[in-house]
Amino acid sequence: MKKELAKTYDPHGLEERLYKKWEEKKYFHAEVDRSKKPFTIVMPPPNITGKLHMGHAFDNTMQDILIRFKRMQGYNALWMPGTDHAAISTEVRVTNALKEEGIDKKELGREGFLKRTWEWREEYGRTIVNQLKKMGTSCDWDRERFTMDEGCSKAVEKVFIDLYNKGYIYKGNRIVNWCPVCQTTISDAEVEYEEQTGHFWHLRYPIAGTKEAEAMLAGKKCENPDEKNYVVIATTRPETMLGDTALAVNPSDERYTWLRGKNVVLPLVNKEIPMVEDSYVDKEFGTGVVKITPAHDPNDFGVGQRHNLEVVNIMNDDATINEAGGKYAGMDRYEARKQMVADLDALGLLVKIEEHVHNVGTHDRCGCTIEPMAKKQWFVAMEELAKPAIDVLKNTRAGIEDPHGTLQFVPESFDKTYLRWLENIRDWCISRQLWWGHRIPAYYCDACGEIVVGSKAPDVCPKCGGTHFTQEEDTLDTWFSSALWPFSTLGWPEKTEELDYFYPTDVLVTGYDIIFFWVVRMVFSGIEHMGRSPFHTVLIHGLIRDSQGRKMSKSLGNGIDPLEVIDKYGADALRLTIMTGNAPGNDMRFYYERVENSRNFANKVWNASRFIMMNMEDVTLRKPAANELESVDKWILSKLNNVVRDVTENMEKYELGIAVQKVYDFIWDEFCDWYIEMIKPRLYNTDDAAGKNAALYTAREVLIDALKLLHPYMPFVTEEIFCTLQDEEESIMISSWPLFSEERVFSQEEKAIETIKEAVRGIRNVRNDMNVAPSRKAQVYVVTTDPEVEKIFTDGKLFFATLSFASDVLVQKDKSGIGDDAVSVVIEHATIYIPFAELVDLAQEKARLEKEQDRLKSEIQRAEGMLKNERFLSKAPAEKVAEEKEKLAKYTQMLKQVEERIESLS
Ligand SMILES: [Zn+2]
Ligand SMILES: [Zn+2]
Repeated sequence: MKKELAKTYDPHGLEERLYKKWEEKKYFHAEVDRSKKPFTIVMPPPNITGKLHMGHAFDNTMQDILIRFKRMQGYNALWMPGTDHAAISTEVRVTNALKEEGIDKKELGREGFLKRTWEWREEYGRTIVNQLKKMGTSCDWDRERFTMDEGCSKAVEKVFIDLYNKGYIYKGNRIVNWCPVCQTTISDAEVEYEEQTGHFWHLRYPIAGTKEAEAMLAGKKCENPDEKNYVVIATTRPETMLGDTALAVNPSDERYTWLRGKNVVLPLVNKEIPMVEDSYVDKEFGTGVVKITPAHDPNDFGVGQRHNLEVVNIMNDDATINEAGGKYAGMDRYEARKQMVADLDALGLLVKIEEHVHNVGTHDRCGCTIEPMAKKQWFVAMEELAKPAIDVLKNTRAGIEDPHGTLQFVPESFDKTYLRWLENIRDWCISRQLWWGHRIPAYYCDACGEIVVGSKAPDVCPKCGGTHFTQEEDTLDTWFSSALWPFSTLGWPEKTEELDYFYPTDVLVTGYDIIFFWVVRMVFSGIEHMGRSPFHTVLIHGLIRDSQGRKMSKSLGNGIDPLEVIDKYGADALRLTIMTGNAPGNDMRFYYERVENSRNFANKVWNASRFIMMNMEDVTLRKPAANELESVDKWILSKLNNVVRDVTENMEKYELGIAVQKVYDFIWDEFCDWYIEMIKPRLYNTDDAAGKNAALYTAREVLIDALKLLHPYMPFVTEEIFCTLQDEEESIMISSWPLFSEERVFSQEEKAIETIKEAVRGIRNVRNDMNVAPSRKAQVYVVTTDPEVEKIFTDGKLFFATLSFASDVLVQKDKSGIGDDAVSVVIEHATIYIPFAELVDLAQEKARLEKEQDRLKSEIQRAEGMLKNERFLSKAPAEKVAEEKEKLAKYTQMLKQVEERIESLS
């Protein structure tokens, strides 16, 4: 019993059924097999809090295409999936859920909170995995990992201890981005900048020893103050002045040379602070004098270090003022700001308040304004670790062998982004004040405070002999574990077979926004711990934007849910849409019209396949003898052959968007619109069994290979057709990738059929221009003196007649029997005449020919211009010049024919 394709293409049910089949058959699973070459991709682990969005859809479609392509090429393809624990985002999620139940996280305690969070993860943490499956992703789910599973945690611990022992990890006081709501350090990536209207407060700081300073110290407004005894500064965060430890000017600012060596008295705090000179200060900004608050501003922190200034932290973790703030202690930062401005005004120290629009950093998870704060945190010293990661890329580009492998970005322009990060690298703050994450394996001696790093607390303190220890409360930045992803997922630190066989992986696919946060860190980690760069290629993709080119965002509400698109059009249509026209690294716009078009394409493939299968009913196909193949059969085989070669080449170069366009054009135009139409006369001719066999056999063969080329992009529809066509269960995903074959090179036939196509197009245009209905058939004459062209049309008479709506086709050497009122179409080496005098207005026909004459003249002029252009002749490749010469000859010849035709009409 032969299988049949459903009457209409409907992705619903079909996609789910096939995905289940693939999973059950374990097609996605890869085992170490030394007889095959591995090809490995590690999936950027989506957050367990994540919901599938267009970014994931894009990223994972590209990976799936590469993996399916390589699997079909015979590689042992492993796509390693997993999820990220997403420390802060998960912690916020669970904390809020608890809050709704009226439970305070702190009261619950660390253990209780972690228990709840694991439960949360069990319940919701794999939502995104199930959503990814709907996309058709062929990753090895049997190997799915989690950044906090046992193995990955072991890897994190070992890396921390190793880096600490090598001296790369240290604890130090540095400025971090502090979120007062989440009460943790957050990475630069998690800070979102938004424009806010705030204020510039212009304040007077009196110079020490003046009567103005005296009055202030006495808590009074100065009578008849002399402005020269004040230094005026402007600030957007007046409350931070409680932590000021200097004022600074640019050393080249001549307006302030007289201030050199002087002190000012810090208002409200009433202590003397120095004037320092630092070239960081921008003379043009504000008054040219700035306050320096090392504990609450990263730039000021730098100034403070250069001038040995005290670091005074004035805030508690919840952004209330601490005891360093004197009478303001205990107030919230904004409450303190209000009070302080009022107090300054009372002392006559407020000059003015200006409106000011500035960028304010907020936490992307909770929206709270970030407070830069000096905190004792754990850091990784980056300078040494960065060096080999810089070298491996530079050496790859220079063609020099590097001991750590090779590394390239596609497109190459992202090399610069990568190098810029690494060459300006700052130490990496890795500690987070969260509970959900890898707790730092460091222990403090309760007696003397000595730090001991190790997988468990030591028995005895090496410094004081104490025996009681407390583990560091902080956990590690999520990126610390994802940096190890390419090798921790393969079993490291164990020396597993998988690690030996699949590492280094091959390609990493990711967006450009996380080159620093993730890619850079994976590369130096891979080199440091494995001795090799974790992949040889980083394929960068852009963003999917809305139809107006805007970024999809929650606040704009313009996000498109990929699951909704899949529901409506199927995953295949979505995948084709996001890959068509896409170039590596570029953003793309999403239009629903394009998804519809993709779905229509799936329909087209489906219907063409059904047509072929219907014709195969009651036929036992046999491989046709070479002489049974007609020119059209050879033409389509030759065309297919070219597409196989080009598409494979494009895909090897990661030009996935270009590749799929070629497959699409081949299937839609050449195969469906031309080839199938061209073989219809043979299929319907009951007297020509051999002809029907040759046509059907070729059609089936071409369809199978075309489906294979399309499979990585549209896995479901291709699988369904492939299995039905072959009448078996075997899957297209494990079939072999088509290869270019010398046996399918038929240049002669290719050229011949292209000539016929040109004639058909010409006839259709003419008929179209004159509004002749397709039902109206007419005699078609092909006049040529070229024996080759004569043969082409004689051989292809049958389908040429159908395609050109001809009642009959006559091929002859001259115009005998053709009336002067015939309409003509000029192609290379032939003129086609259609005598439908009754339909044609002679004047109109003449005008049309004159238009054609003009067009040809301008083409000739253009080609002649090119061929006279010295620059073109010297710069352009030889084949380009030859092509122009060929065009010139062709147009000249065509012009001659058109002019003869005009002559005969007059
Ligand atoms: Zn926050
Ligand atoms: Zn001790």
